Amino acid sequence: MNFTDQTVLITGAGAGIGRGIALAFGRVGARVVVNYVVDPEEAEAVVTTIREAGGEAIALAADISDYAQAEALVQQTIATYGAIDILINNAGITRDHLMLKMDEKMFDDVIAVNLKGTWNMCKHVTRPMLKQKSGAIINIASVVGLIGNAGQANYVASKAGVIGLTKTLAKEFGKKNVRVNAVAPGFIETRMTETLPPAVKEHYLAQIPLNRFGTVEDVVDAVLFLASDKATYITGQVINVNGGMIG
Ligand code: NAP
Repeated sequence: MNFTDQTVLITGAGAGIGRGIALAFGRVGARVVVNYVVDPEEAEAVVTTIREAGGEAIALAADISDYAQAEALVQQTIATYGAIDILINNAGITRDHLMLKMDEKMFDDVIAVNLKGTWNMCKHVTRPMLKQKSGAIINIASVVGLIGNAGQANYVASKAGVIGLTKTLAKEFGKKNVRVNAVAPGFIETRMTETLPPAVKEHYLAQIPLNRFGTVEDVVDAVLFLASDKATYITGQVINVNGGMIG
């Protein structure tokens, strides 16, 4: 795949899946915008790795849950590289608890980043992408947004919302050649999952026919495909990357 002359903006790209997506786009020639919120060093390390391999990248700070910061992130990207061809809404957080113990802040925080943040970013790329009559948006959802998960009412609601948003924007943007898809990972080995107790991990593993947890690269490959010219007739879809957890 070749993404030369294309600009990709990835939210939450200093670590985990977002970092893997950024490095992969750097390898295939894209100009990469590495968004981060807390840790500039992580993001700058991603930028350095891309540049050392001959690629082009910059790191931009923004809390995507903040409407104005999301807008500034889009504007800075366009000011630097002239356009946004691909937006990957990857940033996400968890605040897990059973409903009995989940407080309002835990719900609000997760919805603010995962759902409102994704909406904020989509909102701000809408006009430029529709105007340029091309673009690909890929939202990182989750398997639990499709099947539910005890202890994650906030996270599951946010990811189910992301799937609904994806399907709706695909219908609104299709006529202007802007595609909107989602990738729904299963259990992927990142810092989001590394702190789960061993018993919980065993519980998940028992539900995975391929009998292993997913890697960042497993998700990256699906994202690259959806962003590429191999997927020009695909929009409004959710690609499951979960080892067979659900059909
Ligand atoms: P991760 O390692 O915790 O990375 C999450 C990233 O999101 C971090 O880089 C973080 O940036 C960024 N972020 C958080 N809040 C942000 C905000 N308000 N604005 C901008 N960036 C923000 O998690 P991950 O496992 O790679 O998850 C990536 C995506 O995949 C998430 O949407 C997650 O829900 C989804 N997912 C993960 C799994 C899994 O098993 N790991 C499964 C299904 C779906 P800072 O480091 O700067 O805070």
